[in-house]
Amino acid sequence: MAICDRCNTSIPRCGGYVMYCEASAQIFGGAAAAGRSTEIGCLLLCEKCTTSIYNESSFSRQQPAAVGIDPSRGDLQTQIREALRITIDASLITIAKRQGLAPQEALTQARGLAQEWWTNNQAAARKAMALAKQAPRRMPATPEALVREQPSHKKWWQF
Ligand SMILES: [Zn+2]
Repeated sequence: MAICDRCNTSIPRCGGYVMYCEASAQIFGGAAAAGRSTEIGCLLLCEKCTTSIYNESSFSRQQPAAVGIDPSRGDLQTQIREALRITIDASLITIAKRQGLAPQEALTQARGLAQEWWTNNQAAARKAMALAKQAPRRMPATPEALVREQPSHKKWWQF
């Protein structure tokens, strides 16, 4: 059994979906002090979370460029958790689209990586990262789309 990295529900053995997330988790770690960038990396998500990310409607939405956190709006922990979730989702969608994957193809890829993860999680994590970092499989239709789909190098809270 494992736990979903996004919603903490349990994932039965051999279940779930594995993908690589480029969003930075610097704020959560000691790496911030050292000034190093730390990508969140490999995630194991449950089916509900994964299908809420990899679907036509999410893929057709413009990914948020800014996730605001405002102490006057209420509980900061809740806002940080929500901002992190939005940032993870946006990163996963951006990576899938950069690979030229349709939502169904992204699901299939993440499911295959999860099956491998249960027998060799390090190999699956390396493969997920390699897939995420590889050059785009197809070019975006327009130069504008190319610019728009460039990953942001800003940390997720720096907006
Ligand atoms: Zn989940």
